[in-house]
Amino acid sequence: MKTIGMLGGMSWESTASYYKALNEGVKHSLGGLHSAKICMVSVDFAEIETLQHQGDWQQTAKLLTEAAKSVEAAGANFLLICTNTMHKVADHIASNISIPILHIADATADQLKHDKITRVGLLGTQFTMEQSFYKGRLTNKHNIEVLIPEPNERERVHDIIYNQLCLGIINDEARTEFINIIERMFEKGAQAIVLGCTEIALLVEPQHTTVPLYDTTQIHAHAAIKLALTK
Ligand code: GLU
Repeated sequence: MKTIGMLGGMSWESTASYYKALNEGVKHSLGGLHSAKICMVSVDFAEIETLQHQGDWQQTAKLLTEAAKSVEAAGANFLLICTNTMHKVADHIASNISIPILHIADATADQLKHDKITRVGLLGTQFTMEQSFYKGRLTNKHNIEVLIPEPNERERVHDIIYNQLCLGIINDEARTEFINIIERMFEKGAQAIVLGCTEIALLVEPQHTTVPLYDTTQIHAHAAIKLALTK
């Protein structure tokens, strides 16, 4: 079994979901007391969040590259950046380490293509929904058309992610708002919705809507288990 490297803490609420999914997945595949081999560095999200909102992506890249180097030095065979948003600096991190990064958008696209989905609605932080590092990768590299919510809806989604979900606050009102946005994108032609923020599945689960949901946390974790167990 390969050792999975994790850059966690963004936020730790979703890193906990990753940790559980990775261990459950290995147990499911190998049985008994088997569990995932993992090396993780978990950062202080307050530092990262401040830099994000100041637009200082260079400094986030620097901090995460240092963290990634520690994960590599600890023996990881490949790296998961356990957040969609911080894949904005994935190329910078990749060029400073020698282990490969399993990109969350590629793992998600592979699952979508497997399921013959070609047009999705994307939910995530405003960085993820509005900038090209994520949407562009789905479209240009994987030929998947991406719809995003209206500007006021994007603002709400972003606000709920940082001020509720990343703090572990889960409430029905926010869930209703998310479901309404999900259903509007579905009516506009999205075949499925990508939960492109690793905390969203803490709020919205498949039983809350008939619209197909693609939870990037679970997809990323499953792709990692597959890679870890491949000889
Ligand atoms: N975990 C979130 C994501 O997947 C948002 C937190 C962050 O900005 O990293 O994008």
